[in-house]
Amino acid sequence: MIGMAPLRAVLATRNPNKVQEVGRIMADAGAQVALIGAGDLACELPEVVENGASFAENALLKARSAAHTAGMIALADDSGLCVDALAGMPGIFSARWAGGHGDDERNLTLLLDQLRDVPDDRLGAHFTCVAAAAFPDGRELIAHGRVDGSLVRTRRGSGGFGYDPMFLPCGFSCTTAEMEPAEKDLVSHRGAAFRQLARLLSLVV
Ligand code: IMP
Repeated sequence: MIGMAPLRAVLATRNPNKVQEVGRIMADAGAQVALIGAGDLACELPEVVENGASFAENALLKARSAAHTAGMIALADDSGLCVDALAGMPGIFSARWAGGHGDDERNLTLLLDQLRDVPDDRLGAHFTCVAAAAFPDGRELIAHGRVDGSLVRTRRGSGGFGYDPMFLPCGFSCTTAEMEPAEKDLVSHRGAAFRQLARLLSLVV
């Protein structure tokens, strides 16, 4: 894609921070993508019921719906925390683990409570992200990212969001909430997934 006009794509999210984060990850990966958010479109993206059975299904549901409505390439992701001692939960239910969607504080409190009796050496967990691209002509791309680590019992750091204050990536002594955004991009599941998606996009456009 070197020398070509950047590819215009919409990221199927209303969260401007996510547009910034994913735009930064893809730009750092050398992708020539001009990313806009749902709020920058002239049309309204419909609410998508995330009722898929996997991260991939949910990411594709969101990307397909946005590509169909906006008539342009749409990217979407679905991610979450999978805890070994909870057989991979909260997984696709990460955002609404304590009931209300996106209530990070209640989600963290509930998870800490559920892990109270779990021994320290069984606190393994990983974040997973699936990033998807859907084209208006029906083509689809999918990329996976994962970061392994373990959980700490007391919140550490004020950066990031969600379960970041509890998550210690393998090989690091700080949680992802204690990292600078660019440092987190390098180790994160979302960073890995969107870097791979950037490579896949460069092969097909
Ligand atoms: P989403 O699919 O990116 O909206 O993420 C769903 C949920 O997974 C979020 O609400 C968080 O609870 C959790 N999650 C996903 N990615 C991260 C992360 O990078 N740090 C912390 N929590 C995350």
